[in-house]
Amino acid sequence: MTIQHLDHPLTLIKTAEVNLPTRWADFKLLGFEDARGKETAPETALALILGDIHSTPCIVRIHSQCTTGDVFHSLRCDCHDQLHLALRTIAEAGHGMLLYEHQEGRGIGLTEKLRAYALQEQGLNTIEANLALGHANDLRDYRFVVDILRYLKINAVRLMTNNPEKIAAVKLAGINIVERLSADVGFGVHSARYFAVKRDQLGHFLEPSAVT
Ligand SMILES: [Zn+2]
Repeated sequence: MTIQHLDHPLTLIKTAEVNLPTRWADFKLLGFEDARGKETAPETALALILGDIHSTPCIVRIHSQCTTGDVFHSLRCDCHDQLHLALRTIAEAGHGMLLYEHQEGRGIGLTEKLRAYALQEQGLNTIEANLALGHANDLRDYRFVVDILRYLKINAVRLMTNNPEKIAAVKLAGINIVERLSADVGFGVHSARYFAVKRDQLGHFLEPSAVT
């Protein structure tokens, strides 16, 4: 993962701000676009915001788009449950933010993610499958979503994540993480192997009992 320097000028623009009532709470939904990528497809992301996000460090969850999990409730990964856990937790706290970045399949895109799934069905694990397709294991760069935190003048957060790279990206932007909230949602028969790779090879914080 490439982390840009900490105080680069912001290049993002806010494209929309609307109300988004959900089953959990009435959020503000903000759309963002990276103004640098106009010629190609600009990077985009969403921020779901609830309540006062400045008076005290608010809960922040950085969620990467997962069409199979978010939309179809796939049991191959934990994305759907993590997304709902984050929204429910933010709603219960009364304030917080979910950043939704459009980096499907750890950045390789939906089509390539499905190709990787096919290789996994032949025995490769999630990292080996990405490498076999010629992709780095994780192409995500959290600079854009961290820039959204900077744009919103967030100085301190309670970060909900198991991913050490998200923690590093937030810290490198000079944003104080006052607490890490676990994003553990358990696992099932279809996701146990994926969980083990995330814990053992990607360094994610998962409860020892979560994977055997
Ligand atoms: Zn997923």
